Amino acid sequence: MHEHRFVFGGLPSRVVFGAGSLQDLGQEVESLGATRALVLATPNQEALAQDVSLRLGSRSVGVYAQAIMHVPIDSVTRALEEVRRCGADCLLAAGGGSTIGLAKAIALESGLPIVAIPTTYAGSEMTSIYGITEAARKRTGKDARVLPRTVIYDVNLTLSLPVSVSVTSAMNAVAHAAEGLYAQHSNPVISMMAEQGIEAIARAIPALYRDPLDVGARSFAQYGAWLCGTVLGNVGMALHHKLCHVLGGSFNLPHAEVHSVVLPHALAFNSNAAPSSMEQIADSLGVSYAPAGMFDLATRHGAPSGLKDIGMRESDLDLAADLVVSQPYWNPRPVGVGQRDEIRTLLQHAFNGVRPEAMAEGFAPGRGGSA
Ligand code: NAD
Repeated sequence: MHEHRFVFGGLPSRVVFGAGSLQDLGQEVESLGATRALVLATPNQEALAQDVSLRLGSRSVGVYAQAIMHVPIDSVTRALEEVRRCGADCLLAAGGGSTIGLAKAIALESGLPIVAIPTTYAGSEMTSIYGITEAARKRTGKDARVLPRTVIYDVNLTLSLPVSVSVTSAMNAVAHAAEGLYAQHSNPVISMMAEQGIEAIARAIPALYRDPLDVGARSFAQYGAWLCGTVLGNVGMALHHKLCHVLGGSFNLPHAEVHSVVLPHALAFNSNAAPSSMEQIADSLGVSYAPAGMFDLATRHGAPSGLKDIGMRESDLDLAADLVVSQPYWNPRPVGVGQRDEIRTLLQHAFNGVRPEAMAEGFAPGRGGSA
């Protein structure tokens, strides 16, 4: 047994969770003292935004359904103009990480409060992390102003998320929890949430894959997404998130799919350096070897297995490896220019979509077996 030593500072947000909770929206907006909410969405989800606006009645100043993946700076400038034009005093983000990301970028500039209504499992609603893309580079940062004040999780809004997106989005969520378990400044409360989050997602994926309209499965997935998002919001992430940031940011690969493909390989790389966390992940998944368990969870439910399947070019792997090691995040197994070859090997495995077991020798993960 070892002595506990940690700092815990939970983020101040209010979470309203449950089927039909969207009906509390008006009350939630009012309790923020807001009377002029602007409803944000992607063009795809304009109908949802219109419904939300209708529910708000006179408390809505309209719908702005122009959110774009990775929050390009131009889209922020245009949205800020709209916010000023209609005199909004609150931002209502109805959608996934892209819509919540736009709300965060506006809040960073304007200080307006955000009410988030998430419809994917990405978890942005529980963090004070923002990202804005300018000149093909995504600048990220943390700011208390961008943390949504209120989050409304209504499972009914997730039923329309296509199965393939649901699975990769849930893998995106589970990646936050997995890295949270070996985070540099972790704490017991967050670790508890991470374990529960992995367990919930591991139960939800097979069930929603069988029946995407299974409200129980969807509710479990959303509960897991909340837990995993909270982990992301509270502790620092490591190599996996660095890899995904580089692959998504510099090679324009789709966000959730990249997480789904890379996670088993990042875990295999860290396996020996964080053995007790790997055990916690494996236990939560109900398997004996966490990296292979993650690989199976994704690929047995239709997720792509390799970077080659999601638009990566093999000729770009060298550059990707250079970028990952040039400005590394903290990681339990040190990563720097000295580990460039190991990272290049990891990327090759992720590119090919090899089940981590098969590369046990390369990464010396130390524990055998799989699901
Ligand atoms: P997304 O928001 O881009 O959504 C993908 C597509 O699915 C969009 O067209 C959207 O309209 C549609 N969609 C969403 N929910 C739907 C539903 N229920 N039914 C039908 N269609 C639906 O995808 P995402 O994975 O949620 O977000 C990815 C973005 O979020 C990335 O830019 C990523 O960097 C960011 N992100 C940020 C944080 C953070 O803490 N700042 C955390 C996670 C993700």
